[in-house]
Amino acid sequence: MNTVDDLKYPRVLLKLSGEALAGAQGFGIDPPVVERLTEEVKAVSQMGAALGLVIGGGNIVRGSAASAQGMDRVSADYMGMLATIINALAIQDLLEKKDVDTRVMTAIRMDELAEPYIRRRALRHLEKGRVVIFAGGTGNPYFSTDTAAALRAIEMEADVVIKATKVSGVFTADPVKDPSAQFIPEISFREVVANELAVMDAAAVSLCKENCLPIIVLDLEEAGSVSAAIRGERVGTLVS
Ligand code: UDP
Repeated sequence: MNTVDDLKYPRVLLKLSGEALAGAQGFGIDPPVVERLTEEVKAVSQMGAALGLVIGGGNIVRGSAASAQGMDRVSADYMGMLATIINALAIQDLLEKKDVDTRVMTAIRMDELAEPYIRRRALRHLEKGRVVIFAGGTGNPYFSTDTAAALRAIEMEADVVIKATKVSGVFTADPVKDPSAQFIPEISFREVVANELAVMDAAAVSLCKENCLPIIVLDLEEAGSVSAAIRGERVGTLVS
């Protein structure tokens, strides 16, 4: 059994995209997928790591896609932010059923169903061993939940941002489309920016770079990968 002293990254911000909740169906929430994902979160929490989650909303609404269909961009982005809150409540419910203590904090006030995001209160929840689910993105249109993950990680003084994806890390090209794409185990922020590699969006990468906050990109479907990364094992791609 690990103790918190054995962990390379004792405080972690885990970014889960909406897509990760949708599984193969590509939209909505796939219960078996979320079940597996919450097992992973529970394992991390039991290791003693302080854990914050930022959940995307792309499985329900993506602002840029809705605005491309003619909707006002700002309204579409608010719909996207609301989608992240729906996902956060789903994750919270499943985590609480597994006896993991959680708090959802929203960037847009919604007092009847969750606490508003207040930095000092969030820090206190983490200190008490609660998993904090940061919902509503940054609370501002034209941003993404990747940027929200970087921002909350910096505010929480996290040791690492883990971006859980469907591929095993960063590649020279999109491995789904290009079979010659090569896996990159470790890379600098400078190279990520220069080569426009798909790690997180540019605003998120720039926030992490400026604040010397490492990012690990890994495959969520590899069981145990998040725990292994937090222990300091070589998993996925390390950007630092
Ligand atoms: N969004 C936003 N501001 C934020 C975070 C999210 O406007 O700070 C909106 C945006 O429209 C985005 C949607 O919420 O498309 C869902 O978030 P995202 O696309 O980042 O989710 P993911 O791709 O991780 O599922």
